[in-house]
Amino acid sequence: MPLVYLSLGSNLGERCDYLRRAITMLDEHYAIVAISSVYETAAWGKTDQPDFLNLVLALETPVDPITLLDTIQAIETELGRVRRERWGERTIDIDILFFGDQVIDQARLSVPHPRLWERAFVLKPLYEIAPTLSFRGRSIQQALADLPGQDVRYYAETATDC
Ligand code: ATP
Ligand code: CA
Ligand code: CA
Repeated sequence: MPLVYLSLGSNLGERCDYLRRAITMLDEHYAIVAISSVYETAAWGKTDQPDFLNLVLALETPVDPITLLDTIQAIETELGRVRRERWGERTIDIDILFFGDQVIDQARLSVPHPRLWERAFVLKPLYEIAPTLSFRGRSIQQALADLPGQDVRYYAETATDC
């Protein structure tokens, strides 16, 4: 089964609670094999909003990528996500970073996530659970080293104790 990496983020309301509930809901559908610590970061792209908590997890699933996207979007809706504006504040955001070694370029889904290489808040937790991961010759470790100055603070060991 392909190994899938997801990024989870929250910057509205009880942020840890949303991360924890999203993990519980994902766990009902998929075999989660690793979860990173929780990190706190100033908002990216649209900066006049509260800080985010972020983590990354790995799971295994036999379902196809669009089915996974449908499920994570249903979880986002269930957790009160309202889509107002691009990169705006949200109770929960779940992105597909990698889906095994697949490259997907569809209207609804781009994998690997096209902006992951610019985001220390994604790369840092990803590096924690997959230090040797690389994709087509590009390593997480190197990408992170190429991004100095983005402030990603360790926040808690797990979403249950933050
Ligand atoms: P960003 O993608 O830059 O992190 P965002 O997460 O705020 O921004 P959303 O509003 O959550 O963007 O998602 C917009 C659309 O992106 C979704 O409706 C989904 O169809 C699409 N999308 C494309 N690739 C992916 C992916 N790898 N993971 C999740 N959604 C994706
Ligand atoms: Ca996102
Ligand atoms: Ca998203």
